[in-house]
Order: sequence, then C-alpha cells, then structure tokens
Amino acid sequence: MAATLMYGKPVAERIRAEVADDVRRIGHVGLATVLVGDDPASRVYIRHKHDAAVAAGLDARDVRLPADTPEEDVLAEVAALARDDEIDALLVQLPLPDHVDEDRVLATVDPVKDVDGFHPYNAGRLYLGRPTLVPATPLGIMALLEEHEIELRGARAVVVGRSEIVGKPIAHLLLQAHATVSICHSRTDDLGHYTRDADVLVVAAGRQALVTADMVKPGAAVVDVGINRTESGLAGDVDPAAADVAGFFTPVPGGVGPMTIALLLKNALRCAEYRLQRGVFPGR
Ligand code: NAP
Repeated sequence: MAATLMYGKPVAERIRAEVADDVRRIGHVGLATVLVGDDPASRVYIRHKHDAAVAAGLDARDVRLPADTPEEDVLAEVAALARDDEIDALLVQLPLPDHVDEDRVLATVDPVKDVDGFHPYNAGRLYLGRPTLVPATPLGIMALLEEHEIELRGARAVVVGRSEIVGKPIAHLLLQAHATVSICHSRTDDLGHYTRDADVLVVAAGRQALVTADMVKPGAAVVDVGINRTESGLAGDVDPAAADVAGFFTPVPGGVGPMTIALLLKNALRCAEYRLQRGVFPGR
C-alpha cells in the first residue's frame, strides 16, 4: 500500500492567505522577535519567520542582542516589548545562551502576546484542556490531520518525544480530540511495541529513521516532525520506506515544516485580536 502523502505547503499557503486577509482587515498586527547571539540555525529560523510575517502584512520588529548580553538586560528588553503597545505578538528564539535562564525570560512575555505558547500560563491552560495559545508546530500537525479527515476520536495515538515544543503539546491536543494517547521518549523500552499499536503516530525525536517500516501499523497516519541534516539533504525521524505501510504520511521536507510558520502567523493574529478585545483572552 502506498500512503497518501500529507503535504504541508498547500494547506500552509491557504492559512497564510487567510491570515493576510485578516491582517488587512485589522490594519496592524505587530510581531517582535528577540534573538540573543548568533546561532546560525536560529538566524535562519528568524529570517524565515520575518519573511513570512512581512509577506502576510504584519509589522515585524527584529530585535537582536549580542551573545554576551547579561540576563538582566535580556529580561529588560523582553519586558519593554511586553509593555509596548505596537507589539501584539512576541517571541524569544530558543535556545538562549547558557548564562540566560530561559524560564525567567519566557515568564516575562505577557501571556496575551505569547505567540509561541511557551508561557507557563498558556502551557498550564493547555494541560487543563482549556482554550489558549498553543505552540505552532502541534497546531500545524492538528491542521494537517484535520485536512485529511483523520479520525482522532477513540483512535490510538502514540507520540514519540516529550519536548515542550512538540511532544507534550501535541499529546495534549490529541487527548483533547479524544484520542487515547501514549507518550514515548528516550527511556521507553521497546519503542516498536507502542508505535505498532498506533492509528496515529507522531514522531518528534530528532533521530533520523528512528521509526522503521516494521514499527508502523498498516494504514496508520504517520506524522514525521523530525528534521535531520544529512549529506543528502533533510531527513525525518521515520524511514521513508514506512510510507509503503502507512495510510497517510508526511514527507520530509514538505510535510509539517511549512505548517509551523503558517500557524505562528495565525497565532500572531489571535494575539492581536485578543488585544483588540475582538476575542476575550482565555481565562481573563
Ligand atoms: P528535543 O527537545 O530534542 O526532544 C526530543 C525528544 O525525543 C525527547 O523527548 C527525547 O526523549 C526523545 N527521544 C530522543 N531519542 C529517542 C529515542 N531513541 N527513542 C525515543 N525517544 C527519543 O526535540 P524537539 O524540539 O521536540 O524536536 C524534535 C525534532 O523535530 C527535531 O528533529 C526538530 O528539528 C524537529 N522539529 C521540527 C519542527 C518543524 O516545524 N517541522 C518544529 C520543531 C521541531 P527524552 O525526553 O527522554 O530525552
């Protein structure tokens, strides 16, 4: 069986066009990004986010601080942006340099501007199953599953990876959608025992070809979040041969990747709507 490939680009383009329409209607959506240091991968991510934001009509502010900026100065910069009325959505690019406490910085972002959904307030609401700002990659995964009408209610869902950016939030979203969810990680004994049971399998481990074709249930929906740089280009966490077994499969590149930025822009729009009181910020 050859799986239906779940391409992110067409869905992402549609979402980005919808966001651009809404931004035009609102008139101004301000997104600020803070990059501390010059990690090459982070610089690429920030550039992509800015290009996409500008293309959708957002006002994007690119704040860059040297790698040796003292923690108190990073906190002061983030606090100033949290107070700035021109800024609706604020993200701090991770990882931060070792001398800067990520928890302290993320807690300084006003929850209503927390476009990445990393603030403990938003993460806590997700844990409680309440509406909130949620990280973009998990939202993108859910949008792809919805696009392909994957049944989640009562499905057995397995998430490989328990990061705060992907694994934990996608597990919560799947649980909210009434899937029966298992979370696997590096200490999981016999990973294949779990993955073979999955109707919906989300893999976010950062280990190339961790999941092989024999670890996939025939007909399953497989979402490969992994991005691994290899000599022959980008590769996922799932062996592409698993597409012969799965029913639905995200290619790498071209699956989840394009969805992340689209959903980030949508989150920025939501932040602006909350601030304009067009939607009441959840829980306030
Ligand atoms: P991360 O913070 O490094 O977390 C990786 C998770 O995988 C951890 O929970 C780890 O377990 C688990 N893991 C590692 N080796 C494993 C193994 N052999 N068996 C089972 N679990 C294992 O990574 P992340 O930030 O979640 O990202 C995961 C991957 O997704 C990376 O390749 C990243 O580049 C990619 N990504 C893509 C997008 C996108 O837009 N497409 C967005 C974000 C991330 P422990 O907790 O036990 O260490």
